[in-house]
Amino acid sequence: MDVPDILLSYFSFRLRFSSYAQDQFEILLPLACEWAEVKEKVALENGVPLSSAQAEDAKRVGVIHPERVKIFAVPQIPIPRHPILRSAAEETQLITPATDGLTLRYGIFIKSSFLNDRRLIVHELIHTSQYEKLGGFLPFLRKYLMECITIGYPEAPMEQEAIRLSMVICADSKS
Ligand SMILES: [Zn+2]
Repeated sequence: MDVPDILLSYFSFRLRFSSYAQDQFEILLPLACEWAEVKEKVALENGVPLSSAQAEDAKRVGVIHPERVKIFAVPQIPIPRHPILRSAAEETQLITPATDGLTLRYGIFIKSSFLNDRRLIVHELIHTSQYEKLGGFLPFLRKYLMECITIGYPEAPMEQEAIRLSMVICADSKS
């Protein structure tokens, strides 16, 4: 990255952060946590455990408890109904009708047509590992949502980590 790029991303960060009021974020965050916890429960109750190959991938990307993960195949990734959450999801493009996967700690929603997409599942497992490393819903969502609001999705570093690492893992080994 050369100097103009650094300056550019710094100014766009400042601009986006100031245009999104901190108090709005503090309202959004607990709502997002509540929604994520409820939806994790749905995925855990209705999903299936990882296959042994998927559990191997989970360990590869640093998931501490692969046995807790469930994958729930759905025709469409759930979109929050609460107007604040809904508009945040739309604004950040985090959850749209085109979303193929969504990870809420150990509950992973995958669009049915992508169930055999190893790269996508590995990508979502990296998010599970990020939840574990950060210590749960609140710290994960605080960091992840803040990155998506200030830097943008999918440019956010936590998202980039999942994109980059899933490509490396799936290029390195076949299963
Ligand atoms: Zn992601």
